Amino acid sequence: MSTRSTSAAHGDGTVASHAGERDAVLGEPARPGPVLSSVFHLPPAPGGPALDGYGRPDNPTYRDLERAFSELEGGTKVTAFASGMAAISAVLFGLLKAGDTVVIPSDGYYATRPLAADRLAAFGVTVRTAPTLGPYPVEGATLLLLETPSNPGMDVCDLPAVCAAARAAGALVAVDNTTATPLGQRPLDLGADLVVASDTKALAGHGDLLLGHVSTRDDELAAKVRQWRTWTGSIPGPFEAWLALRSLATLDVRLARQAANALAVAELLSARPEVTAVRYPGLPGDPAHEVAVRQMRRFGGVLSAELPDAAFVERMLAASRLASAVTSFGDVRTGIDRRAQWGGDDVPDGFVRISCGIEDTEDLLADLKAALDAAVTAG
Ligand SMILES: *Cc1c(COP(=O)(O)O)cnc(C)c1O
Repeated sequence: MSTRSTSAAHGDGTVASHAGERDAVLGEPARPGPVLSSVFHLPPAPGGPALDGYGRPDNPTYRDLERAFSELEGGTKVTAFASGMAAISAVLFGLLKAGDTVVIPSDGYYATRPLAADRLAAFGVTVRTAPTLGPYPVEGATLLLLETPSNPGMDVCDLPAVCAAARAAGALVAVDNTTATPLGQRPLDLGADLVVASDTKALAGHGDLLLGHVSTRDDELAAKVRQWRTWTGSIPGPFEAWLALRSLATLDVRLARQAANALAVAELLSARPEVTAVRYPGLPGDPAHEVAVRQMRRFGGVLSAELPDAAFVERMLAASRLASAVTSFGDVRTGIDRRAQWGGDDVPDGFVRISCGIEDTEDLLADLKAALDAAVTAG
């Protein structure tokens, strides 16, 4: 008797709510818990069916999570990692060697840049950078790591065009799909070879764990990525994997509310005189909107905005009852991060990344409007 019955014909909510489900076994839990074990009983003599033996190479809970990701991505080979950076490291260090050239975003996730510039360069890999909007120096490149929409600038890279150019130049393409999630964008369908993601953000979505994954449809790339995880031990904790699996069931409804809130907040901010710039790919008129509509299935809950200065952001955060100061995104609760305080991004002092939660839209709008008014008045 099989309970696993979703197919490509089903909608996102149906696939997400059943993702990773196991075939029914009478008398066994319908929702199995995490398998918290480093050691498993083995037969006294080698041979027989493949079994779990030791927790680093594999674990039943990782397998459930990887199957769930694969179902959300339309059938991919997935390796789950301890964090997004562990996933990115697996692609950079597991696939590149001395003499290769990698292109990474100059305006993307800030930790990727020093990792590449310092460590990859030390191992003899040439590191080039390019803004998310391009142009991308693909000639002679081995691998392009793209990020779209970019964190925190919310620029969008034209994936079909850049992937085609990379393919023609013989370069592999990996796309950091953290901001979009698999329900927002499927880079492998747009020409990419690999997807990397921090599932710490909207995918797990509750601000309580770190996790990442790498996906591909290529057996050889998948094997290299998995070998890297086994060698380095950059495995997710089974409990975190299980928490993420549990969270996936609500991904569709969380993203729907987050995106509705983000669009409403983008519209609110666009109409405020003290806000000098707003970026949200879902906002008609945004410079990225046209490309985003072509390649994204939904636009997510994150936007960016330029407020007057650091003190203004501090006053606004102090006045808000719903938005907290947090340096992550994708949580079910709204968070605001003034990026310049960390020093990694080339952004003005008052630049904020706003991650909309699943609060009622009217409540969030009323709260942010009151917080902006308070920040203006007290200024
Ligand atoms: C957060 C983030 C990462 C790193 O993920 P961790 O889970 O914190 O290691 C990588 N890429 C992007 C775009 C991110 O937002």
